[in-house]
Amino acid sequence: MLVKNRLLIPGPSQVPPEVNAAMARPIIGHRSGDFAKFHEELAKKLKQIFQTENEVVILTGSGTAAMEASVSSVVNPGDEVLCIVTGKFGERFAELAKVYGANVTVVEAKWGETYDLDTVTKLIQEKKFKLVCATHNETSTGVTNNIPALGDLCRKYDALLLVDAVSSMGGMDIKTDEWNVDLMVSGSQKAFMLPPGLSFVSISPKALEVINNNDSTNYYLSLKKAKKSQDKWSTPYTPNVSLFYALDEACNMILKEGLDTVFMRHKLLAEACQEAVKALGLNLLAKEEISSYTVTAFTGNVDTEAVRSLLKKKFGFAVAGGQDSLKGKIIRIGHMGYMDFADLFGVIAALELCLKEVGYPVELGKGVGAAMDVFYRGGRD
Ligand code: PMP
Repeated sequence: MLVKNRLLIPGPSQVPPEVNAAMARPIIGHRSGDFAKFHEELAKKLKQIFQTENEVVILTGSGTAAMEASVSSVVNPGDEVLCIVTGKFGERFAELAKVYGANVTVVEAKWGETYDLDTVTKLIQEKKFKLVCATHNETSTGVTNNIPALGDLCRKYDALLLVDAVSSMGGMDIKTDEWNVDLMVSGSQKAFMLPPGLSFVSISPKALEVINNNDSTNYYLSLKKAKKSQDKWSTPYTPNVSLFYALDEACNMILKEGLDTVFMRHKLLAEACQEAVKALGLNLLAKEEISSYTVTAFTGNVDTEAVRSLLKKKFGFAVAGGQDSLKGKIIRIGHMGYMDFADLFGVIAALELCLKEVGYPVELGKGVGAAMDVFYRGGRD
């Protein structure tokens, strides 16, 4: 029987045909005037999605490259850095800061929960941090952390704020400037609907001053070099020109749909997915009020790995499992980027059939019905 492959993991995500087609354009020289003109126009589009007046540099490298570029361009050995860790990707910031010799203070939340604002406030009041690192959307758990509250604290206590929005930018309403984020990082293969391979960092004037006066030991990942080149609409090294074309097309699609519509679509998809999960008697890992709009993680009294493997085999749906301590315990459905309601109804229907096959009690249609109800009513309430 025909089974189509459908990529619903929380990144890499589905790539629209228009974006794939854009990558087939002939390569041009990255030092040419034509590339500079194209780069300048592209940067304007990216700034709209980041909701920032700051420059957004584009790096050829995955999301972690932008995380490492940011940490290594700001941190000197012995600097005080606060890392807010709510899952796998928060841990990555702490690891990076340690690699570059920072004195790292970690505030940790249980996976599936968000950070405790009182604890963070106390720490920032007690100690002068050069840099605070946080994850906006923790892909490993499906939790969205409160970034505006951290922005207020960092403004008040004069610390730089570095935020990982790898799995949310382009799908969720992220107000980089209004939230006072100095370095906002994202990547190509999630809500931006691109293949993996590009990452982005917006740099505030305050961050740029620190970066330009730093004795960083980085080279390829130097934000100082990246920003200096970008001032001439160039890049320090050869960029992935094809992915730049793809990014341009993806930005056009996002801006044509309209940012508000894109954000609303992601919110509705998330609500529909959450309601479906609940209707099937499964448990959301994160509480609704901190749940991500781009990924839903859930667990239940069922062999999640058996369900995942059936979903792939019988219906072609690739969904993710858990990472580290959550390995084998949860299922994560990505609903980001090039994703519509038919995709969601499809994966929930397939999930119900796979649950039934492994012996989990399911009244067929209950989950899909709950998702349809959210779609029909235009929201959960
Ligand atoms: N941060 C978050 C929140 C992510 O979801 C990911 C990718 N899963 C990364 C960082 C790392 O990005 P990459 O794998 O592109 O290096």
